[in-house]
Amino acid sequence: MIKSIVAGNWKMNKTPKDGKLFISEVLTNIDETINVDIIFCPPFTGLYNLDISPPFYIGAQNCYFKDSGAYTGEISLSMLLECNVEYVIIGHSERRQIFNEKNDSINKKVLKVIESGIKPILCIGETIDEMNTGKAYDVIKEQIISGLNSIKSLNNIIIAYEPVWAIGTGLNASVEQINDVHGFIRKILSQYFDNDESKNTPILYGGSVNPTNANELISIDGVNGFLIGGASLDVINFSKVIKIVGDQ
Ligand code: PEP
Repeated sequence: MIKSIVAGNWKMNKTPKDGKLFISEVLTNIDETINVDIIFCPPFTGLYNLDISPPFYIGAQNCYFKDSGAYTGEISLSMLLECNVEYVIIGHSERRQIFNEKNDSINKKVLKVIESGIKPILCIGETIDEMNTGKAYDVIKEQIISGLNSIKSLNNIIIAYEPVWAIGTGLNASVEQINDVHGFIRKILSQYFDNDESKNTPILYGGSVNPTNANELISIDGVNGFLIGGASLDVINFSKVIKIVGDQ
């Protein structure tokens, strides 16, 4: 049985002060016995000095794969570890598209996060053009195989399927699309990794999840939780989605 996860990717939103207040408000809304792991992913500046404990966790939105040195603007794993970060989003489509991240550097980051003893949330998903030209499955397969290259075990790996056309558009993928792609992802994992591990790897869905569609989407068999952008910025909406997942 895979424990459900709800992760909120704040992107470039909320100052450290706003973020702390937001987290404290969500914490008052959610009973800590809820059977969901809840991950807040603030910008780097908001990671420090967050006093939370399970089922609440801190995630970063990115990292660099070098330990230290002349890498202006980058953040190392030791810096994240000192902020009690336990998850790192890697390969978000905005990193891939706006910052030109490729599968090989994404793979280096995944390896570094694993080596550091914490959990990568590897984001994969096709663009609208890739979907319309029938390339979605090839793209997703390549993102998984390259992103997880040299990974020995799936323990601690989380996959987030986020069709790029569904992110921030208000247009979530359909139940049928999500069902098919999540089944495909698990099949690929089982071909390259230990069977039990591939069965136990959380696969999240992301793309315009909100309190209105969360119930239908979390009911899909292969969906183990959500990675949420827009709705994770609002205390009421984020709390509602967490509770819907917890009631599942
Ligand atoms: C995201 O950015 O990962 C995301 C899923 O955004 P949204 O929920 O706003 O579509």
